[in-house]
Amino acid sequence: MSQTTRPGVPGAIPYPSDTARPRSPARNQGFLAFFLATRKRSIASLPLASIAQIFSAAAGAWALAWFALSSVSEEAAFCIGAGACVLTLLLGLRHARRELARANATAALARALLDANRECLKLIGPDGRMLRISEHGAEIMQASSPEQLAGANWLGFWSGDDARAARTAFDAAMSGSRASFVGACPTTAGVPKTWQSRLIPIDDGRGGVRDILCASLDVTQEAELAADLRAKELLMSEMEAHVGLCFYSYSADYSYFHHVSAGCASVFGIEAKVLRERPQAWVELVLPDDRPELLATMQRITQSKDGGRARYRIEHPVNGVRWIQSTGYPILDANGNVVRVVGISEDVTVEHERLAELDRLAFSDSLTGLANRGALVLKIEERCQRNAAFALMFIDLDRFKVLNDTLGHTAADRLLKSLSELIQAALPPDALLARLGGDEFAVLIDDAADKTRLARIAKDILAALARSGEPSRADAFVTASIGISVFPENGADHETLLTSADIAMYAAKKAGRNGFSFADANSTERIVDFKLERDLPAALANRQFLLHYQAIHEPRTLEVRSVEALIRWKHPTRGLVSPGVFIPILEESGFINEIGAWVMDEALRQLALWRHAGARSLGVSVNVSSRQLRDEAIVEVVNDALHRYELPASSLEVELTESALMENPARAQRTLSALKALGVRIAIDDFGTGYSSLRYLADFSPDTLKIDRSFVARLQDDRATQSIVGGIIQMARALGVSVTAEGVEQTVQLEFLRDAACDRVQGFLLSQPVAPEKVLGLSIAAPE
Ligand code: C2E
Ligand code: CA
Ligand code: CA
Repeated sequence: MSQTTRPGVPGAIPYPSDTARPRSPARNQGFLAFFLATRKRSIASLPLASIAQIFSAAAGAWALAWFALSSVSEEAAFCIGAGACVLTLLLGLRHARRELARANATAALARALLDANRECLKLIGPDGRMLRISEHGAEIMQASSPEQLAGANWLGFWSGDDARAARTAFDAAMSGSRASFVGACPTTAGVPKTWQSRLIPIDDGRGGVRDILCASLDVTQEAELAADLRAKELLMSEMEAHVGLCFYSYSADYSYFHHVSAGCASVFGIEAKVLRERPQAWVELVLPDDRPELLATMQRITQSKDGGRARYRIEHPVNGVRWIQSTGYPILDANGNVVRVVGISEDVTVEHERLAELDRLAFSDSLTGLANRGALVLKIEERCQRNAAFALMFIDLDRFKVLNDTLGHTAADRLLKSLSELIQAALPPDALLARLGGDEFAVLIDDAADKTRLARIAKDILAALARSGEPSRADAFVTASIGISVFPENGADHETLLTSADIAMYAAKKAGRNGFSFADANSTERIVDFKLERDLPAALANRQFLLHYQAIHEPRTLEVRSVEALIRWKHPTRGLVSPGVFIPILEESGFINEIGAWVMDEALRQLALWRHAGARSLGVSVNVSSRQLRDEAIVEVVNDALHRYELPASSLEVELTESALMENPARAQRTLSALKALGVRIAIDDFGTGYSSLRYLADFSPDTLKIDRSFVARLQDDRATQSIVGGIIQMARALGVSVTAEGVEQTVQLEFLRDAACDRVQGFLLSQPVAPEKVLGLSIAAPE
């Protein structure tokens, strides 16, 4: 067969195009026969039958020779010779049959072995050329037949490093040793394949090697997988080496690393090799303060079988103290046992410092650098949770607002800063000073068991501030008022404690300023008012106010002539709050004007709706507080609303308490006159509770007197009260003033009032205050 293969270019073998010829068992047999033929036979390997055959042939020949030379009878010699010949023939025939059967069996076995062999088998001569190739071998080499490859230079199939490996293995086999190597060589069709080849020398019987049997297994897939894996490993290790993170896989008991990436050198300053040998080396770098929490987190990860994270500091061998964040996730086996912990450790120092700076900014006062309100609140809550007594001082600089206005903002800010330093210097080392805003400071003092100590600290603060004043500048002299609350006596949360201290501070101010005062039980009670006051401004905007209406009846027919509007506050957390609680707060804070205007408008709007719905003669009474009377704007509000809702002024009655009229009679008089001029009716509420009731009758000439319910309550069993009430009604009648009795709760009261010719009655016996939609269900009097 012509051989045109160039070494190293196996693809250049001229292969016939027919590669799909069916495999014939005969060829495999031929290949085997070739192998069998190369075997040397020895006498010892001859079977017994052959020896018998040789022996009987020799006996036959000897008999014939002896017949010719000796004196044995002719017949006898002939018989012996012929017998030996027949025996020889018979034995020969039998042996030939057995030999044939054995050869057949060997060939069948060899064929089966060859068929079972998935390797490419070939016989290679000492010159490197293939003498033979197995049928399967030719097939996986994509050759059309074994003959196509016979004679090809096997050494020329390989190239590069593989060619060198093939040559080394070949030389080794030629020198009598088995050899193997892995290399790539394409099939005849040019498909690249990787082979694992074993070379077995076949000896020539003279201590030399005649040929080489080469068995090559196609390991292309395995090689690709391995290459893939190697590539991934390389990628991983390259990434791990450059991202500055430490990836790890720890044993479930943290006693050794399955894997730790090169990043540990930058994160911990420890080489991966060192960590593999001493898996606890990194823990030794963790600062002792941070170690317990870190170890607890590590334990939690394996026990709770949940991921975890720890942030801790290490003493980095090169970079000093660093913040490290480690995350760990447990890997579970099929039974749910933790088999290892995998995760990442990274240096988060920069991020940590940035957050710490943000924290510092969020929790410190920019002017003084002290803790701010947020920081103080956190500290208070922390101590509340610890449940150990501590004190809170609320410091408010006296008349600082005046100073601020006279000095100007910049100078005032400077002053505040220097005052904060003075206060700080006067405090014991364990105290925390915070600026709450403006001229308000607070001090948190642990260990508040000793009130004399607290008083001494307060005095020290006041003394320090007193020294601040420049004798030459009277305006720069600053004093303060201090309120002190103590946990848990004056509150169990930051809000109550701060408010208690605040109220105590007000008490100190009231007592003449430049002093201190401890919170007491009364001030704690007033906290409720404080909290409500804080919620009031938002209540109107959030539509938390509503009006209920209580009917005012004609005493005989009990028909409803008018309704009194009574405000209700639906507090988001405290439910319905009684006006008796919040009206005084509204009056104090001045909010009453705004809310009073809303009440007036809402009541008249509602009245217009009822009158449109049929209750044409219904009237409404609206309570107006003393503070509202001080401001003539109320007249405008009433006038606007009457016009807007197209109501006659007489349908509105304004109820004023005696105390309201008493506060500033002249002013009240002006407002009332203006209202009366509009045609609005005036009622004096809670009549009889004030001191100079009768005077009002003359001064304000009201349309109605509302006898206070404290009189009505005593009507049934107090003769004096009966006389007073009877007298009021008669006197009012004489003056042309209508009388309404409020707080009627019993029938006897109603009967007495009826007999005494009282004009109107109001009370729970007849109607409770109700929501506006229920008013039309009352028996309202028909228009007269
Ligand atoms: P007031 O003007 O004397 O209003 C009557 C109060 O007596 C109402 O209490 C009413 O529910 C209650 N009352 C009515 N009948 C009876 C009864 O038979 N027995 C008893 N024990 N009480 C009865 P409310 O609604 O709690 O109002 C309390 C006070 O709040 C009012 O006293 C009034 O001074 C003030 N107020 C209510 N609404 C307003 C408002 O819109 N503006 C102003 N400025 N004050 C208001
Ligand atoms: Ca009233
Ligand atoms: Ca009243």
